[in-house]
Amino acid sequence: MPKNLQSIIDDLRNLGTPDEFLSGRDRILEELTRVNSDYEKLNFKYERSSKEKNILSSLLTRTSADLKKVSDNLKIRAEELSTILTTIPAYVYFKDVNLNYILVNQSYAELTGLPVDRITGRSLVDIFSNYKSTAYLETEHNVIASGKEDYNIEEEIEFNGRARWVSTNLAPIRNPAGKIIGLIGISWDITERKHYESELKRAKELAEAGTMAKNEFIASISHEFRTPMNGILGLSEILKNTPLDEGQADLLKGIVSSAENLLVLVNDLLDFSAIEAGKMELDFHPFILDRVLEDVFQMMNLKAKEKSLDFSVFISEDVPKHLIGDSQRLRQIIINLAGNAVKFTDKGRIEIHIHLLKSTVDNALLRFEVIDTGIGIPPEAKDSLFKVFSRVKQNQSKLIVGSGLGLSICKKLTDLLSGEIGVESVQGKGSTFWFNLPFDLTGIKILPGEKTENTEVKLYTGMKVLVAEDNLINQKIVSFQLKRLGFEVDLVDNGQLALEKFYSCNYNIVILDIQMPVMDGYEVAKAIRVYEAGTGNHVPVIALTANAMKGDRELYLAAGMDGYVSKPFTSETLLSAIIQAETLAARKGV
Ligand code: ADP
Repeated sequence: MPKNLQSIIDDLRNLGTPDEFLSGRDRILEELTRVNSDYEKLNFKYERSSKEKNILSSLLTRTSADLKKVSDNLKIRAEELSTILTTIPAYVYFKDVNLNYILVNQSYAELTGLPVDRITGRSLVDIFSNYKSTAYLETEHNVIASGKEDYNIEEEIEFNGRARWVSTNLAPIRNPAGKIIGLIGISWDITERKHYESELKRAKELAEAGTMAKNEFIASISHEFRTPMNGILGLSEILKNTPLDEGQADLLKGIVSSAENLLVLVNDLLDFSAIEAGKMELDFHPFILDRVLEDVFQMMNLKAKEKSLDFSVFISEDVPKHLIGDSQRLRQIIINLAGNAVKFTDKGRIEIHIHLLKSTVDNALLRFEVIDTGIGIPPEAKDSLFKVFSRVKQNQSKLIVGSGLGLSICKKLTDLLSGEIGVESVQGKGSTFWFNLPFDLTGIKILPGEKTENTEVKLYTGMKVLVAEDNLINQKIVSFQLKRLGFEVDLVDNGQLALEKFYSCNYNIVILDIQMPVMDGYEVAKAIRVYEAGTGNHVPVIALTANAMKGDRELYLAAGMDGYVSKPFTSETLLSAIIQAETLAARKGV
């Protein structure tokens, strides 16, 4: 009870007489007024606190709703996380800084064969008793120590008696203050992938071994083909230089042209394989353009005549005569295009035009055009024309033979020679196959003048050459060609004899067949360089080879040779190889 109310009651109890009542009345009223005011104050306070209570209670209701929402959300998130952890096809685990498991997902538990509660608190080696590797645990330690993630850690582990490959990503876990409190690891089973990888590797090795076997086969077949081809062409050349009547000379031309056609076919196949294997060897040397075209003319005119076609070659005045480039490949491209022109033309003419497109002191860009008045090419066939095995469908009654390799080889060769190739054609009217090629003009050594039939170029009169060659026909050919150049020729038929001769005589040049009995060309060349060591001498050594595969050149040079000629060769290619080897040898000697 409020204090002033008690005092009013006490006052009222003490009232005995009317006088006392009268004298106490004012005081009682005063007290009652005060009580009333206190009551109002209290009432006000009560109302305020009641309001506050209401506010608080509504706040409490809201907060508890919010808290419920948060807790519901957390529950959902936790459920989501748990679903992820259970369904993810990966092994997930959390570890503390001592690398003891804090939590693992179901997959991980299944992998270990233990229930989750038997894994937590234990370490990797406790779980996998046969786990031997320390490298992986070191990686986990490093992640904890460095705070850096580590991805794609591949490891072969034995789980439940089965060898499995796993790939793991590790990341540190930090508390809100940034302190590392453990790590999370996610591993994937990559056994299948590893299996495919090793299958793929094996298949690749097998394919590579197959390609190698194919290349070896090509190299040896190349040798087998080129050696007799060299015989036919070389002996024909010797025969051509003997007295022949007109009929015989014509027949001989026929033999040469057929042999050359066969050679083109053989070379097409070999080139195709060499290009495919990335082993095409280019041979840049000085040559006379007119001679290449004379050869082409000799060969193609005969074919054109058989079909009563005119065949002519036009070289613009400004085209340089002496060039540096791969004359064999150039010849091959022109012959291929001219051969097609003859093949696909029944009446009219074939023309070869050569123009100078651009020139500087050092190089010249030439345009070659092979024009025919043949069946032409439909526009839709043009795009695929230079692809392997492309044959155009034509409304022809006659079946025209061909491998479909020629143009694709021409395209590859022009690419290799930094040129370009294309075709313009009107169906039924004819085609113009063109290609542009750059040639070097620097440091050209002027080759002996224009070739005329039976002209002997006695450049090397009085000089001695040693030739080691085991094939009798090739001996004849090479010694005939060398004698025409003025050389005195010493012939031996194996490497051992070559070396003995070399020790006993002074030679200006040595020509060695690569494949010889007793001692091969490489061995002889190496022995010659050992013999010369310290003397300052360096006799030019040239390899005679039936192989013309990429990489061979490096082998010849490594054995101390200065150049090589691949069979079958003409006097011209032999001469240019000699000139090149001399230049190189002069640089190597003192
Ligand atoms: P093939 O050895 O079959 O001649 P190519 O690659 O040299 O192979 O030529 C592919 C095809 O391009 C030929 O089969 C032919 O249909 C067409 N072709 C090539 N040259 C000519 C040409 N001068 N005139 C018409 N068609 C041509």
